[in-house]
Amino acid sequence: MLTTQTSKIEILKASTTKINEVDFENLSFGAVFTDHLLECDYKNGQWQNPVIKPYAPILMDPSSKVFHYGQAIFEGMKAYKDNNNDVWLFRPDENYKRFNSSAVRMAMPEIPEAIFMDGLNELLKLDKDWIQRGNGASMYIRPFMIATGPGVIANPSDEYKFMILLSPAKAYYGGEVKVIIAEHYSRAANGGIGAAKAAGNYAAQFYPTNLANKDGFQQVIWTDDATHTKLEEAGTMNVFFRINDTLLTAPTSERILDGITRKSLLEMAKKEGLKVDVRPVIVSELVEAAKNGSLKEIFGAGTAAVISVIKGFSYQNEYYEMTPIENSYASLLKEKLTSLQNKLSEDTFGWTVKVQ
Ligand code: PMP
Repeated sequence: MLTTQTSKIEILKASTTKINEVDFENLSFGAVFTDHLLECDYKNGQWQNPVIKPYAPILMDPSSKVFHYGQAIFEGMKAYKDNNNDVWLFRPDENYKRFNSSAVRMAMPEIPEAIFMDGLNELLKLDKDWIQRGNGASMYIRPFMIATGPGVIANPSDEYKFMILLSPAKAYYGGEVKVIIAEHYSRAANGGIGAAKAAGNYAAQFYPTNLANKDGFQQVIWTDDATHTKLEEAGTMNVFFRINDTLLTAPTSERILDGITRKSLLEMAKKEGLKVDVRPVIVSELVEAAKNGSLKEIFGAGTAAVISVIKGFSYQNEYYEMTPIENSYASLLKEKLTSLQNKLSEDTFGWTVKVQ
């Protein structure tokens, strides 16, 4: 291993690369990781120096609090390579801010910007060859933090580990997406942790999502926990509905993740002159619109899938199939967003940030 020092980030380079073993044409989402990762520990009330080092398992005390009380948060972001081989991040400041608000909600320490941003920048530079170009290819970035402090007393840990992993991704094809609207289970509650990217939010969705899968539905659209009448979001996506010509999505709240794709699409849609309405969307309104033909589109939006078209939904054991339409808002917005992210069109919003 070679050791070099870049500002305060120690870099331990892998002596070999695994890149030649990877079939980039057939990547499963989130299954392959690059040669290096970033690691930074929090001890004695402060963040230690970050290290970039070869990707490898970590050794942890079995009593580490993350295993017992679930203090764990993460982010999901992407980097793209343009035609000049430059690498770009999409709104990384938003992921950084959201990571720290998740940390605060989970009684975890906030991460300094220099560790998150400079660490990510250096890691991407080191594993740049792993970033593919074109055809929807990207580098999926997974920053996360776990409570590593030992001891099974139920209180916040005083030690944490922050890491960033990189996973090359090709264009996401989620297949046909049919959803079920939640009538009993809830993803989040007022006063809870729904707005945080806390690991437990995802664990809690697995069981009801498995039940939906058994009935032939790929995802659940969550509704508000109190009344199950307001449509909120899906597994890892915010949801949009088009009724007649209006694009609708729920306002964010302490139950809904403030998605970066969601807020970007809202701005782009307005710029394209589409009618946009951010307001609670009621299940009965959706059913009515499906029945009278005014429901034109449903799609999910998130970093991993970008935009995922929803083919139909089930509610109270009734299935409503969407009629495919020409010139959909989903395809227009997906084209605009991905060409901006891949630097194929001008970024008039100032959302793309160069890795350098
Ligand atoms: N909702 C949830 C629950 C999510 O996990 C995600 C993915 N981060 C999203 C929405 C979409 O957020 P973003 O557009 O920032 O990826």
